[in-house]
Amino acid sequence: MLRERLRGELVLPADPGYPLARQLQNTEYDTVTPHAIAYCETPQDVRTCVRHAKDSGLRVHVRGAGHSFNGWSTGEGLVIDLSRINRIEAGGPTVHLGAGAQSLDALDALRPQGRQIVTGTFPTVSAGGFLTGGGIGWQTRRFGIGSDRMVSARVVLADGRIVRCSADEEPDLFWALRGGGGGTFGIVTEFEVRPIHAPMMTGFETLWEYEDAVAVLAAWQAWCAEGPDELGSSLVVLPGMFGPAGKPVVKIWGVHLGPSGELAESLDQLSERAGAKPVSRVVGPRGRYADVMHEALCGSKTVQQCHRTGTNPVAQGHRHPYTRQSYRLTGRPATEPEAAALLDAWDPALDQERYLLCIAVGGAANRVGRTETAYVHRDAQFLIGYQIASRDPEPSAETAAALTTWAGNCTAALAPLASGSYINFPSSHVSEGWEADCFGENLSRLRQVKQDYDPGDFFRHAQSIGGRLPTTKAGS
Ligand SMILES: Cc1cc2nc3c(=O)[nH]c(=O)nc-3n(C[C@H](O)[C@H](O)[C@H](O)COP(=O)(O)OP(=O)(O)OC[C@H]3O[C@@H](n4cnc5c(N)ncnc54)[C@H](O)[C@@H]3O)c2cc1C
Repeated sequence: MLRERLRGELVLPADPGYPLARQLQNTEYDTVTPHAIAYCETPQDVRTCVRHAKDSGLRVHVRGAGHSFNGWSTGEGLVIDLSRINRIEAGGPTVHLGAGAQSLDALDALRPQGRQIVTGTFPTVSAGGFLTGGGIGWQTRRFGIGSDRMVSARVVLADGRIVRCSADEEPDLFWALRGGGGGTFGIVTEFEVRPIHAPMMTGFETLWEYEDAVAVLAAWQAWCAEGPDELGSSLVVLPGMFGPAGKPVVKIWGVHLGPSGELAESLDQLSERAGAKPVSRVVGPRGRYADVMHEALCGSKTVQQCHRTGTNPVAQGHRHPYTRQSYRLTGRPATEPEAAALLDAWDPALDQERYLLCIAVGGAANRVGRTETAYVHRDAQFLIGYQIASRDPEPSAETAAALTTWAGNCTAALAPLASGSYINFPSSHVSEGWEADCFGENLSRLRQVKQDYDPGDFFRHAQSIGGRLPTTKAGS
């Protein structure tokens, strides 16, 4: 029995905890019925699961915190869950992170040390998926992507070996784990990363009338690309249901690592570039990094409250609805006509929950060579894309088709600007050529690493290296 061989917990379909244990961040996957979910507590537990799955002919699905847009961390086989391998230690010059550690817990654990790490802009994403796919955050322009700061990783391989990889040990595996995508080469149980030195920062949030959206989008992109590395920022176009007075609105928010006066001046320059004033502009007090990031990611919720609903008794973090999405990376700011085309695809007249989201990258991330790590996108300036949602976890065929069509139109709108795709923000529709789009000239080396470390394609999902071409979202 697998259950008896684990230090952690095995949840089977008949167990009362099963409905919660099988959840991902997105409610769409609540209908997937895994054979079992193994909450591993040690690397040995992970190895036991790998061996058990092999011996029983079961598929495995590697799961950190379940934020895969396309459901790659679940399926009908054995879900190997890393969420309890989440220790965060910062005693020496590096930080050791259990692969299941979530961004908000890392921020909190590192607060007393005054040291931090590169995280994303959502509180509950885990290190496992974030770092193996690359790792974009508001600190990226100043400190690179998360995986640029990886020093080593401990990995359970398909043959059951537990290895440490670094620049000197298993260097090809180490290279592939920095951007080659999760759930592909092995199961990481621990990362060692270089911390960032950013003791203080300032958060900000501005809202703009939708009427100014074209000028604001173009101006914001130019402002970010030409701005200092100290500025980390996102832009989202929100539908009327979330805007003041029921009208769509553009939100620009983020953090600044320099003095707050610099941020205020910089925001004035954004207004000048856009030829418009925000309807609201809030610049927070300069504060400790962990506090400012917590406020930006969790608002007034405590650390425990900010976790995903159901994962602890006080957790209130929201889950995401049934979604279709289309994302690309772009290498330069959009011109106003291009921004107008991007907003046309968002379609201001549509009465449906949907977003146009953009995160500024570039800066230090682009001062690393394209082949130095598996993350190839060293010319990208923006991650940009669209999401459309239905609150019904199982929408009618008609609704699902409408959402898919909308996302397809957005794919077409992004195409003229695109320089590649980020494996951690996959589009719902997987097109021919996705591997080259995600990995560029690093693809052949990634295929070789896959062949060397997992020749039987034991670790696989719809967009793992070397797998078959899928056509759409697929969890198994
Ligand atoms: C709301 C939201 C906001 C996001 N914001 C950002 C952002 O700001 N920046 C950014 O870069 N990304 C962001 N992402 C994308 C996120 O980084 C990826 O979805 C990431 O893969 C999620 O990791 P996870 O472990 O939470 O998810 P999971 O679904 O558990 O895992 C994702 C993938 O990684 C694999 N994996 C997980 N853990 C391991 C492990 N330990 N070893 C090997 N493989 C593993 C899984 O098999 C799966 O293929 C966001 C996603 C969402 C849903």
